[in-house]
Amino acid sequence: MNTPETYDVVVVGSGAAGALAALRAADLGLSVLIVEKAHKYGGTSATSGGVMWIPNNQLSPSEDTRDKAFTYINSLLRGPVQRDRLEAYVDESPQMARFLVSLGVPLVQAAWPDYFQNAPEARSDRSVLCETFDGRQLDDKYFVSMREQYNRFKIFRRYAMDIGEFFAISTRAPGWVRVFLKMLWRYWSDIDSRMLSSRDRRFTQGGALMGHIYKEIFERGVEVRTETGLNKLIASNGRVSGLTVSHFGRLYDINATYGVVLAAGGFEWNQALRDRFFPIPGHTRFSSSPEDANRGEALIAGMSIGASTEHTEAGWWIPTMHKPMTGASNFEEIHQAAFDVGRPHSVCVNRNGKRFVDEACSYDEFGIAMVEDQKKTGANTPCWLVFDATFRTKFTAGGFLPAMIMPDWRIPADCWDHYIFKAESIDGLAKKISVPADALRNTVSSMNSYAKTGVDPEFGRGGNAYDLMFGDANIKPNPCLGPIDKAPFYAVLINLGDLGTKGGLKANARAQVLDSNDRPIPGLYAAGNNAGSPFGNLYPGAGGTIGPAATFGFVAANDIAAQAGKLTPEKSTEVKARSSEAMA
Ligand SMILES: Cc1cc2nc3c(=O)[nH]c(=O)nc-3n(C[C@H](O)[C@H](O)[C@H](O)COP(=O)(O)OP(=O)(O)OC[C@H]3O[C@@H](n4cnc5c(N)ncnc54)[C@H](O)[C@@H]3O)c2cc1C
Repeated sequence: MNTPETYDVVVVGSGAAGALAALRAADLGLSVLIVEKAHKYGGTSATSGGVMWIPNNQLSPSEDTRDKAFTYINSLLRGPVQRDRLEAYVDESPQMARFLVSLGVPLVQAAWPDYFQNAPEARSDRSVLCETFDGRQLDDKYFVSMREQYNRFKIFRRYAMDIGEFFAISTRAPGWVRVFLKMLWRYWSDIDSRMLSSRDRRFTQGGALMGHIYKEIFERGVEVRTETGLNKLIASNGRVSGLTVSHFGRLYDINATYGVVLAAGGFEWNQALRDRFFPIPGHTRFSSSPEDANRGEALIAGMSIGASTEHTEAGWWIPTMHKPMTGASNFEEIHQAAFDVGRPHSVCVNRNGKRFVDEACSYDEFGIAMVEDQKKTGANTPCWLVFDATFRTKFTAGGFLPAMIMPDWRIPADCWDHYIFKAESIDGLAKKISVPADALRNTVSSMNSYAKTGVDPEFGRGGNAYDLMFGDANIKPNPCLGPIDKAPFYAVLINLGDLGTKGGLKANARAQVLDSNDRPIPGLYAAGNNAGSPFGNLYPGAGGTIGPAATFGFVAANDIAAQAGKLTPEKSTEVKARSSEAMA
């Protein structure tokens, strides 16, 4: 039997949490290996929007402060959280961002309103994103093997859009055709990349963030060993000293001298764990994360050596529509309804034909409202998006492009009256989708009167800056409220989808995994969706999952380096100097 390899740190999972743990540890001089179960690296993080919520980030001059951040968060918390862990998040996330900036990762504030605009000290400068990355800066092998972006962030599965292009094209903002043609030209004139792969060399959103970070990781000689999944943790005398991995069915051990960082994402793709933890039934296939990845093995491995868990009862919700595509993976079929539901000329109803939410609110709030309504009425999860011909002409619906680009006749025949429903009247539509006709008629009639006054007295739709991002500026007086009055009328089913799960192993402010007596398990760390969220069941703003993932990966590496005697004052000063220079 071969002697096991030994690294200072072994990181399980190559998403944002794992990448930050690895990068920071390698930058501090530790030897690091990343093991990644999937064929591609980068995790859900690489497929994502790549936004990180970092309060008091000071990446540009801002009036945000630590106190203001706490005023905002404290007013929103839904239940108990670990106070010191939350404080660690608010204090360490700007440090994590500074560290990335110090290495040349171009983070910028995004003008993205916090998700609760009516809460005290809500702002629009706490979300941070990364400028695009030229994927060809990676070796060819790594260029093609980073997980690709979520399909809806690419056009025709090829042309990668940044957030600006995404909003310009999806809302048909002035100049959107020029934006689109420029993307086409950029892609097809890149002959060199076209000879290699269909992959767009311009990594955007989550791809941009992970591209910049992995460039730094590879430059520090760190290996990402793909197709290598955690099988179990090795613990002796109460300390985790390594792990057993599985590589195409072959099991072997790897030693970790100072720590194992579990960063293997959530359990959204494990039906048994969903059924065990979630309060209402759901299905793996409603998730919008990649289906071959996060199945909770690292959560189970931690639990099996005595780790405790927290906040496992909720997902990072995002309503999804499941468009059937023969032979395609779930990741291709799923459409995130968040980009449809807040638009004018539409309404969302439960199966009693009643509204239950401000449809333009944040996606996690929408999911929480679905759960609450389901508990109350038993007639939600799934619910319906109902819209009229004006909506259909202007906006995407359930993954179909607007009718001006994709008329009804181009929708596959097997989708009608199965995935998308159509009728000449509201009553006819109600009948097709088995919703009480009088209730649906009343709801639509109320929405039409709200469209006239511009005020939604039930849920306040369109009454704040976040909602208005999904409005149509041409519609007055309220861009989120347009009449639902032009036949034909349509409906698409909305499921309780997710971006991942909010709960996981209970970790403390130093990212150490805790046992059932809240004592750290020596040598074991967790970050990202593998650990419980510092916010509990709250998604405070855009980037509320990747921000903590990256931050606690960073925190874990700092803690391990301190224990290894590598986080010296000189090293800290060097990083601070580097970041001040980069931000000057
Ligand atoms: C389309 C989309 C857009 C999103 N946009 C945003 C956004 O802009 N901002 C935001 O904050 N959140 C966003 N999210 C959510 C966010 O992407 C995730 O919550 C976040 O990326 C989780 O990071 P992570 O590092 O914990 O896990 P992941 O990025 O999922 O990485 C986990 C990795 O672990 C690997 N793994 C799993 N099991 C094992 C095992 N047994 N052994 C080894 N490896 C294993 C997986 O293959 C995966 O590569 C989005 C999600 C989606 C789907």
